[in-house]
Amino acid sequence: MADRFFPNEWSDGGEEEGAASDPRPSLPLLRLPPSSFSERLMNAGLRLKDTVVKETWGKSRRRLLKDDYTLYTGALGTAYLAFKAYLVTRCQDDLRLCSEIVQSCDAASRDSGRVTFMCGRSGVCALGAVVAKHAGDERLLQAYLARFKEILLRIDLPNELLYGRAGYLWACSYLNEHVGPGTVSPAHMRAVVDDMIKHGRQLARGGECPLMYEWHGKKYWGSAHGLAGIMHVLMDMELKSDEAEDVKDTLRYMMRNRFASGNYRSSEGSESDRLVHWCHGAPGVSLTLTKAAQVFRSEEFKQAAIDAAELVWLRGLLKRVGLCHGISGNAYVFLSLYGWTGDRKYLHRAKVFASFLHERALELISQGKMHGGDRPFSLFEGVGGMSYLFMDMVDPSTARFPSYEL
Ligand SMILES: [Zn+2]
Repeated sequence: MADRFFPNEWSDGGEEEGAASDPRPSLPLLRLPPSSFSERLMNAGLRLKDTVVKETWGKSRRRLLKDDYTLYTGALGTAYLAFKAYLVTRCQDDLRLCSEIVQSCDAASRDSGRVTFMCGRSGVCALGAVVAKHAGDERLLQAYLARFKEILLRIDLPNELLYGRAGYLWACSYLNEHVGPGTVSPAHMRAVVDDMIKHGRQLARGGECPLMYEWHGKKYWGSAHGLAGIMHVLMDMELKSDEAEDVKDTLRYMMRNRFASGNYRSSEGSESDRLVHWCHGAPGVSLTLTKAAQVFRSEEFKQAAIDAAELVWLRGLLKRVGLCHGISGNAYVFLSLYGWTGDRKYLHRAKVFASFLHERALELISQGKMHGGDRPFSLFEGVGGMSYLFMDMVDPSTARFPSYEL
């Protein structure tokens, strides 16, 4: 187990970092005043964004688009990163670049059949619409919205986030948040929610958990394919009271049946307490519980979110950099708690994870002590996610896990 993550030797934020009496190691970046820290990380994030653009778009765009147009590991992830750079700096070149990449993704995804924000066509059309709105291009905005409305959901579509209904619904919420309320009608979203609740109750029948879902024959618990991701998206919907109770009881079921360590199972019945990722394990569940604590105004979910975050602090300094199963994604657990509670302990922890990445990750990768990701420049598996995190450290209280927290 120990070879999956680096031991966390840093102060947990309960006392002053780098105090003379503290024998633990420090990361030099942490000693900088907040404004210098933010500036250093923003510049590093922008440089890394330029590298990602060069590697994924400048060199071999045709091959990349053919292989993978998605936000998760492909060209749309580079577009999303360029859009983030635009939001931070208001540099029009980044907005133009983003628009150009989305246009190519649009052409590449016409026959894809995949429907989600992260891995399908709704991500292309929704991001295209939002970028067109920022560019003041009303004609293009309407064109992307029209294409979004052409997306069809197959009857046998799964319900999870990466390839299923939850990932499509998230794109609907993204449009309503960033283009305007009602861009996707409540009636259209309600029909999708109805299907998700119906399927969840059907599979859960006779069991202790009120909602259950399956992907490729497994009942996953995590954000990418399972309960944590599905509950996260459902909490953005207008739920009926019995549906909201089912969401709460599903989360309580997971809390009751977590591992003694405080980690969460990757799937129903799994006894392997290994993964501490956004996709599988405590980090993704902590984000969902933080949201549940706010939506349902519940101390019980707040405490469970904090407990899960403690596990992420201990075992979350992974030997990978990405958002999906790496340090960048795990840092958002602390940013989410900080953004909601204002407790600076969590800001400190996010800064430790970000500083570790900034000061050590590239060297550790070059030494073979850290894995650079199967798609090393992608948003979810590679340094694209690290760049995004660095840019979010400019204003940490408003940070959101990319394409997951609205
Ligand atoms: Zn993953």
